[in-house]
Amino acid sequence: SDLAARDQAVIWHPFTQMQTAPLPIHILRGEGSILYGADGHEYLDMISSWWVNLHGHAHPYIAERISKQLQTLEHVIFAGFTHQPAVELAERLLTILPQSQAKVFYSDNGSTAVEVALKMAFQYWHNIGQPRRKVVALEGAYHGDTFGAMAVGGRSAFTAPFVPFLFDVEYLPAPIAGQEENVLQLAKELFTENIAAFIVEPLVQGSGGMVMYEPAILNELFAIARQKGALLIADEVMTGFGRTGQLFASYYLDIQPDLMCLSKGLTGGTMALGVTTCTQTIYDAFLSDDKLKTLFHGHSFTANPLACTAGLASLDLLLSDETQSHIQRIKKQQIGFAKQLSSHAKVENVRQLGTLLAFDLIAGEQTSYFNNIRDVAYNFLLQRGILMRPLGNVLYIMPPYCTTDDQLQYTYSQVLALLQEL
Ligand code: PMP
Repeated sequence: SDLAARDQAVIWHPFTQMQTAPLPIHILRGEGSILYGADGHEYLDMISSWWVNLHGHAHPYIAERISKQLQTLEHVIFAGFTHQPAVELAERLLTILPQSQAKVFYSDNGSTAVEVALKMAFQYWHNIGQPRRKVVALEGAYHGDTFGAMAVGGRSAFTAPFVPFLFDVEYLPAPIAGQEENVLQLAKELFTENIAAFIVEPLVQGSGGMVMYEPAILNELFAIARQKGALLIADEVMTGFGRTGQLFASYYLDIQPDLMCLSKGLTGGTMALGVTTCTQTIYDAFLSDDKLKTLFHGHSFTANPLACTAGLASLDLLLSDETQSHIQRIKKQQIGFAKQLSSHAKVENVRQLGTLLAFDLIAGEQTSYFNNIRDVAYNFLLQRGILMRPLGNVLYIMPPYCTTDDQLQYTYSQVLALLQEL
């Protein structure tokens, strides 16, 4: 379309620098799980637009709440000032998060939520006079694209140009089935009194390929880390807000985290907002008349009232009986399709948790990120009105909670048709 050409002339999109990349698709509007293209095509958003649109698109209730807030207070500096939406959202988050969490720090996105958690962790040790300089992370993790978040993410072709600028991290392999003993052994050697923090995406490594592992092994790793004093950071940017079948993946664990990172579904996909929460103990280490103990971190849009209002509206919807029953319904559908896929010759490693279903396409010889199977799958489904973005040869379905059974069944039928083609 004309707009796509204008877009190309002036805009630099994420992840689409290939010379042969197709023009971006011009979307006019969204409603529920459907995106409406300017060319008359409709797309079922089966990845909740990078996992943020919990309630689908343009939900009227969230729109109304934001627009009402816009008429009274759109923004105010958050250093030395406060407002109702920020306080109310923090209060509500703390009632649904694990009890270990006592304070809420606002930022603007998932990466900054991670940056803040890392800064809190390093400065915590600094403030109490026992500096610790190392973080332990999991191989294949993804925590965002800013420098701190890249540093604690797994190394890949994407981070290669920046490796000289990233702080050193110790890695444990992802504790997937079959690896547990090995990972436990390594963890016992790795965790020392020099480790400031252990950061994980609890139970599901999202961007790293929807890699799933069991709560029991994470509990054991948390126990080893905590024994040496390392702060436990749960990056629930992706797993939070019902995705895994619990409100937060941390609820599958016996050991509660010291710090948590939230974003994505926090506002139901309407406004950019990030949150880092921490324990009272961490917060107290920054409470002092010594100014140098302050956390010197603050974004211009910290606790934006529109974003906080969107968060409150999204929580109203999320915690409603209606959405909770949709989550159970979608989970059931996903379990059913997982069973069907598990015996399929073109599929392996079927994994499912809550509303999330992922599996590997068997791609023959080439299974790197840049190989063809990803493009074949993406284009095949897109042409049939389904938006899914494979991660290499990993296909996953992560629908908005308002997605109907018919929409899911249509998606499943087209995935089966795709498998026929491979
Ligand atoms: N952490 C995790 C677990 C994520 O999945 C992501 C985004 N995919 C991020 C952090 C970064 O969030 P954002 O894209 O909002 O910066």
